[in-house]
Amino acid sequence: MKLHLVSLGCAKNLIDSEIMLGCLVDAGWALTDNPSEAEIIIVNTCSFIEAAVNESIDTILELAKFKTSGFCRHLVITGCLPERFREEIVRSLPEVDIFLGTGAFDRIVQAVKGSPGLSKCFLPNPDLLPMQHRDAHRVRISSHMAYIKIAEGCGKHCTYCIIPKLRGKYRSRNHEDIIAEARCLVLSGVKELIIVAQDTTSYGNDLNKSVDLSGLLESISDISKDVWVRLLYGHPESIDESVIKTIAKHDNICSYFDIPIQHVSSSVLKRMGRKYTRDDLYRLFEKIRKTAPDCVLRTTAIVGFPGETDEEFQQLFDFVEDICFDHFGVFIYSDSEDLLSHRLSSHVPKNTAKKRHDWLMSRQADISLKNNQKYIGRVLRVLMEEKPKNNLFIGRTCFQAPEVDGITYINSNQLQLGRFVDIKITDAFEYDLAGKTV
Ligand code: SF4
Repeated sequence: MKLHLVSLGCAKNLIDSEIMLGCLVDAGWALTDNPSEAEIIIVNTCSFIEAAVNESIDTILELAKFKTSGFCRHLVITGCLPERFREEIVRSLPEVDIFLGTGAFDRIVQAVKGSPGLSKCFLPNPDLLPMQHRDAHRVRISSHMAYIKIAEGCGKHCTYCIIPKLRGKYRSRNHEDIIAEARCLVLSGVKELIIVAQDTTSYGNDLNKSVDLSGLLESISDISKDVWVRLLYGHPESIDESVIKTIAKHDNICSYFDIPIQHVSSSVLKRMGRKYTRDDLYRLFEKIRKTAPDCVLRTTAIVGFPGETDEEFQQLFDFVEDICFDHFGVFIYSDSEDLLSHRLSSHVPKNTAKKRHDWLMSRQADISLKNNQKYIGRVLRVLMEEKPKNNLFIGRTCFQAPEVDGITYINSNQLQLGRFVDIKITDAFEYDLAGKTV
């Protein structure tokens, strides 16, 4: 009984996929990377923005072909696409046998068995989905790096974001369960633990006062000083000084601050429903750089948000020039009728938004190159990840997060994947680095 799963979207969705695969393997299914030989095909979808919705639908239609050309007898769609579009998506995708929403990942075995108890589109309230158990079997895609989800859902309600509707209210995971999982992952040989949630810096606010994020980070960092701990998806409203100090204090916690700002103009932030100002952001990044001088800053911003004027955009542009982020991603606002922001006036024409996106990205390319050039001649610890061809390895430094940041190239034939190696940096590019073994 062979099964093929495609996981789309974010790291949180990937963890859900890995846990579903664990349940299916425990139920006796074998996994295959080749969809043509699979009896069951699962697509764990994303619907965060329009591009993600299109990618999910294209992937489903592509894989549905194996119901005629392959062995596939059951196509199962899970996650954010059915959760967002509900009966509408059921009508538009007759190829699909069953849809599971974000509150039903724990029903995956029933779904692939085609158990009668499940309706074709099963969408229980995501708030009721049991939190991940410490011993949950995960079939992980990487042996040396692992994401750890510390909370579900989101308690903030940014006007352009559908996630609270898809993933429910903010629920922190049990502190002990997270530590136990981290310990297991380290024992299994993982060299990098990446802490994720929709908003990691709100961790513990819904639990009793003794549990907070800095305490959690300390406990995870103490498991092994030879393992990197990286925190992603911080929020400017909820990151507090204790977290900044904890990251600065521990050598094995990457001095890497991922804090999406989305914009800096106070009038745009107000329309986005984000409760901070440009001055708050200046103070925050100044405090981080003062507390952790060797820190690396990552952020993202949205351009073309309804009503965004040239002046408001210029404020964002000037801020990016002032702060000089190490990593900076720009998204063009993605409109949809089910978003609060859809009702705002003065939507920005797509070509204007695209121009603003390109201006910012070209400015950031210069900033990123200049930031990378400071590493030339330095010896950095690099986690070896791939060997794409003879005499070439690819790895990441502690300031290069997977999937979103640049990588480091090393010409060698002698290195081992999943190991840290000291590399002398010889070249710097806009986003990537190159080096040699010392
Ligand atoms: S904090 Fe993030 S996940 Fe939550 S509503 Fe805002 S953008 Fe969405």
